[in-house]
Amino acid sequence: MKAFDFFHLQGKEFTSFFVQRPLKIVNVGKPFPMNAFSTTPLPNIPPSQFPKVVIIGAGFAGLKLARMLNKKPFQVILLDKNNYHQFQPLFYQVATAGLEPSAISFPLRKILHHSKNVIFRMCEVKSIDRSVNRVFTDAGYVEYNYLVLAMGADTNYFGSRSIANFSSPMKTVSEALYIRNKIISNYEKAINIQKLEDRRSLMNVVIVGGGPTGVELAGAMAELRNNVLPKDYPELSFKNMKVVLIEAGPSLLGAMSEEAKNHALKYLQQLGVEVLLKTMVEDYDGHRVYLKGQAPIETQTLLWAAGIKPNRIEGLEEKSYAKNGRIIVDEFSKIKGTETIFALGDLSLMQTEDYPLGHPQVAQVALQQAKNLGNNLPLIQANKTPVKFKYKDLGSMATVGRKLAVVDLPFVKFQGILAWITWLFVHLMAILGVKNKLLIFLDWSWNYLSFDPSLRLLIKPKYVKESERKELIEEK
Ligand SMILES: Cc1cc2nc3c(=O)[nH]c(=O)nc-3n(C[C@H](O)[C@H](O)[C@H](O)COP(=O)(O)OP(=O)(O)OC[C@H]3O[C@@H](n4cnc5c(N)ncnc54)[C@H](O)[C@@H]3O)c2cc1C
Repeated sequence: MKAFDFFHLQGKEFTSFFVQRPLKIVNVGKPFPMNAFSTTPLPNIPPSQFPKVVIIGAGFAGLKLARMLNKKPFQVILLDKNNYHQFQPLFYQVATAGLEPSAISFPLRKILHHSKNVIFRMCEVKSIDRSVNRVFTDAGYVEYNYLVLAMGADTNYFGSRSIANFSSPMKTVSEALYIRNKIISNYEKAINIQKLEDRRSLMNVVIVGGGPTGVELAGAMAELRNNVLPKDYPELSFKNMKVVLIEAGPSLLGAMSEEAKNHALKYLQQLGVEVLLKTMVEDYDGHRVYLKGQAPIETQTLLWAAGIKPNRIEGLEEKSYAKNGRIIVDEFSKIKGTETIFALGDLSLMQTEDYPLGHPQVAQVALQQAKNLGNNLPLIQANKTPVKFKYKDLGSMATVGRKLAVVDLPFVKFQGILAWITWLFVHLMAILGVKNKLLIFLDWSWNYLSFDPSLRLLIKPKYVKESERKELIEEK
């Protein structure tokens, strides 16, 4: 869901001084099997008199927290498997050739230039050992006084191996770029195929999941089909290209208002998207999507935006997890049954009176939880009473296409061109960095005036040697 006003990433000034607590043993868990990472500490971490806060994940929550703790009396060690922060709400524009990947990805080291007490390491966290307060990564281990899990979520295929194998997810900027390449590659292939029936599966695009991501992808794909692809491939007839959006529930944009749902459906239909509601996908073999009780649809491009599941590392007790895999936390984001381990954002489940099933998995929740913890950690360190988290819902929005969007704010709901301008403005403001704001503004203006996004390049990754695959290829 589009959350209004994503970012308030400015760190707070240093205001008080707290003495470091000695590392203490808390929550003794199961011992870990020894491996190469168990025995060597992450090198070159400077000694510090301050307590160590280790944050796993530099997404919305992790990065916000690291910046909140800037210049506070902590040594902050931020770990992420990528060396950049990703702005997920605009992935669909990378996938549909509207924006370049670097416009929505930010080098973490640059963001942290002036954060002297924040150390960043690119590494993948594998497990934690609570008996010795250690986090194990593929580059070595690091000790913590406070540990914060903010690893977000990954795509959920609901147990279908064939869908996982053949469909394309969109949870990282690499996956968005892969979709762009795949779509362009399909048309380059299709133009060399004589018979219409043999080209059909290359040209059709099917999107599963009627949430904001699915709606936005479907709208952007339809606009490419209507305005751009016919100019690039004049020999192909795009009247025969289907853009299909499939949703299992009775409406699109399930969490938004009735007005937003109805308008989104109407806008997509105006753009020529075939919307199938109350429709279950049963299987996909790479060429056909099989639907419950309906004829299969031919496509080699199935974009899977139907669900997410929290990322996990080893080392927490099974009772820390809810049935849906989210980590159960109290109203201070502390993992139940632990003293110094916290979880934020998409992977956490905080059940409150207002949100008995937990908060929505959106950027604003991640940012607000990080802000709350950023204010609480100095209080906890000083043995003062921390403040409970209270979510302030700023509203939600989704765009369907040029001049077509829906906005639900707490006090007013609107759709159409005004909603579209609001959507553009909010997202532009949320993007980190002046250069990226300018790049995106230029790209959007160009696309608006020319109907011709200019990023339809098929840049294939070069063959990567076995010895370099781990560093240079993102694992599935
Ligand atoms: C396509 C898409 C569109 C979206 N659009 C919107 C929107 O419009 N509005 C909105 O409010 N929300 C939107 N969301 C949801 C929003 O992006 C998430 O709610 C938000 O990113 C959650 O923040 P987080 O900090 O919990 O996790 P993330 O932002 O996902 O960050 C997790 C970080 O952890 C890192 N990581 C994961 N595992 C490990 C590991 N083992 N070791 C080291 N690092 C690790 C990852 O690399 C990543 O940087 C969208 C999501 C997607 C996928």
